[in-house]
Amino acid sequence: RQATYAAMREVEPRTLDGTRIMVMMNAGLRDDVAMLNLTGADGIGLYRTEFQFLVSATLPARERQTRLYREVLEAAGNRPVVFRTVDIGGDKALPYLTHDDGDGEENPAMGWRALRVALEREGLLKAQARALLEAAAGRTLNVMFPMVSEPWEFDAAKAVFDHQLEFLRKQKRMLPEAIRYGAMLEVPALAEVLDILAPKLSFLSIGTNDLTQFLFAADRANPKLAERYDWVSPSILRFLRRVVTGVEGHPIDVTVCGEMGGRRLEALALLGLGIRRLSITPVSVGPLKELVRQVNLPELSEAMAGWLARPPANMRVALAEWAAARGI
Ligand code: PEP
Ligand code: MG
Repeated sequence: RQATYAAMREVEPRTLDGTRIMVMMNAGLRDDVAMLNLTGADGIGLYRTEFQFLVSATLPARERQTRLYREVLEAAGNRPVVFRTVDIGGDKALPYLTHDDGDGEENPAMGWRALRVALEREGLLKAQARALLEAAAGRTLNVMFPMVSEPWEFDAAKAVFDHQLEFLRKQKRMLPEAIRYGAMLEVPALAEVLDILAPKLSFLSIGTNDLTQFLFAADRANPKLAERYDWVSPSILRFLRRVVTGVEGHPIDVTVCGEMGGRRLEALALLGLGIRRLSITPVSVGPLKELVRQVNLPELSEAMAGWLARPPANMRVALAEWAAARGI
């Protein structure tokens, strides 16, 4: 495997027509960052900060958070890292973080989790904001908020960061050189208000793991439902296409950071929809870079437009045949 990584590390993900695709990786542990050099990924498109919370017996002290974020940024060097604020609660319940209403939830995936927890337990988000701002002193800080359902939630979370930034400024502490705020699109409702949200954002990151479970009302963790829907189904692809066109004209990056982007035909579909930035599991980085190099984007986009207008009986088969006909 090491040899394979080495072979693909230097491969530049540029399509046949010359478009540079950003291929980034998802991470969550300090040691994951080593995969950046091994895979040659363009950065960390999703750093799941909740991992540190999940492996701790108690709430990680702010200083520990700062240290971790600084180490990650240092290890990443010039490559961007997008830190996602904690996505805990729900099925990632922590013993030291109890819900006032007590005992368990019927539907934890759509329960008290992520930003919903962070906005209610403001101390948690404040500490994390401070840790991220301090860790990124003199650098660019990319922050994104998970499970944003309405624009006001983004505003409220950003206000916590603004407040901490003001505090550090008054203390004459070194600040980040730039701060970019983004939202995850994983709650379908958010797609309907993108015109309101987009002007506030530097970037949007589509979390297709949660997004598709909510679109299809199909639990992503239930193996009984694994065959029930397909990531390359017309409903998902049409939905994603609307998101891409919905933010056109706004100067924001759109990334897909769900596992979907790490799979061959799914990645082709995303490229065909106009997605130019993917963040995926490290093992998929090399194969995706190789795939990108075989694609003619205008041709793929045209095929995708046709499929979306009149979906073939089986989109997966249509994509596979399209790829096979081109030796991909
Ligand atoms: C997602 O929901 O697609 C995502 C990237 O976040 P997570 O898998 O951590 O929920
Ligand atoms: Mg998610």
